[in-house]
Amino acid sequence: MSVIRQLSPHVADLIAAGEVVERPASVVKELLENSFDAGAKKVTIEIQRGGMALIRVTDDGCGMGPEDAVTCFLRHATSKLRDEYGLEAIGTLGFRGEALAAIAAVSRVQLLTRLRGSQEGVSLVLEAGNVVSNDPAGCPEGTTIVVRDLFYNTPARLKFMKKDAAETAAVTAAVIRCALSHPEISLRYLHDGKEEFHTSGDGKADACVYTVLGRDFAKTMLPASGSGESLSVSGFVCPPANARGNRSAQYFFLNGRCIRSQLLQAALEQAYRSSLFTGRYPACVLFLTMKPNLVDVNVHPAKTEVRFLQERAVFDAVYRTVLAALRGEQAPPELRLPGEEAPAPPPVRQEKTASDPPGNRTPVLAPPAAAYPRGKLPAAVPRREPEIANMPEIVEQLVFSGAKAS
Ligand code: ADP
Ligand code: MG
Repeated sequence: MSVIRQLSPHVADLIAAGEVVERPASVVKELLENSFDAGAKKVTIEIQRGGMALIRVTDDGCGMGPEDAVTCFLRHATSKLRDEYGLEAIGTLGFRGEALAAIAAVSRVQLLTRLRGSQEGVSLVLEAGNVVSNDPAGCPEGTTIVVRDLFYNTPARLKFMKKDAAETAAVTAAVIRCALSHPEISLRYLHDGKEEFHTSGDGKADACVYTVLGRDFAKTMLPASGSGESLSVSGFVCPPANARGNRSAQYFFLNGRCIRSQLLQAALEQAYRSSLFTGRYPACVLFLTMKPNLVDVNVHPAKTEVRFLQERAVFDAVYRTVLAALRGEQAPPELRLPGEEAPAPPPVRQEKTASDPPGNRTPVLAPPAAAYPRGKLPAAVPRREPEIANMPEIVEQLVFSGAKAS
């Protein structure tokens, strides 16, 4: 007699949902990312009781037509890739069409949406993933999704939820990461009727850090930047004196999405190694931009972990950028990946000789810093840290042994 049985689609859906939707904070993250993907300029997010009772996200994005309003809740339904040629986009951008299906499977959802330029909107209600009503509705252009009673039909999951205050804290942390990842989008966040913050959406990262993380945090931060052909790093790091007792104020963003990365964390901390005691951790808000084909974001269903193709080069880039910021260096480091040519130094102009015809003389320019031989740097030129050829062994072990990021 056969003992193997295939799980029913319903049970399989619930298991899949568990991978994307762990707690209210993961719902919030997915809904906000959808609003950002929909081209929203203004998004309001509201939660009650840590998001367990209610999560409401309203955006002024592209909205959906009546057909898409139903399709978007099907598993593997996405507008963001159409065929296998788009498969690379799954790897690079992480679209899998799973989030809405997963959220709807474990809650009561109401969707109110109107396609931009369309006369009428649609209102859809789902319970445990099943459509219970679908009606035309008057509503503004854009989308509102309300998620109520999360995990009401999965008691096992419900038991793992923490007190409302702890879930609220996790949601707030997720909203902060989303707000910082898109300073060009105005985000308003309310919990239990109280406004926590409201970013202006003017695209300025420093103003966004100020609004979201507070004045005390923002005023001490040092600007950091470094750029190259395929990779750039910018943002803010704290002076060693303002380090903290944990890593909760380390924010890393890759191509507009907040990520966790042990590699980036290690690169940051390595730059502080001589200035911090054990048990103290630097704070940072660092934005990395790199060619999407150099990174795999499809390592985890929630897309928070990534794999860099050229880990050492990325480590080096972050390390050198942070170090330059801590030293107050004026010239941002140039970041190169292996195989990328160093740009040719600008030509050094020679002093014109007396034989040059008068009127044809050009002013004498000092040669650029890079042209100075080692050891003869004039005092005005900031000292450059040599590129680290080898990552310190301890960091290497930490980063490549696959130990969990904290
Ligand atoms: P994915 O984002 O990976 O495509 P989701 O399940 O999160 O998968 O969303 C499914 C689809 O629903 C999206 O591809 C998009 O077309 C549509 N959608 C979801 N949220 C919104 C929104 N706020 N505005 C417009 N369209 C949306
Ligand atoms: Mg999505």
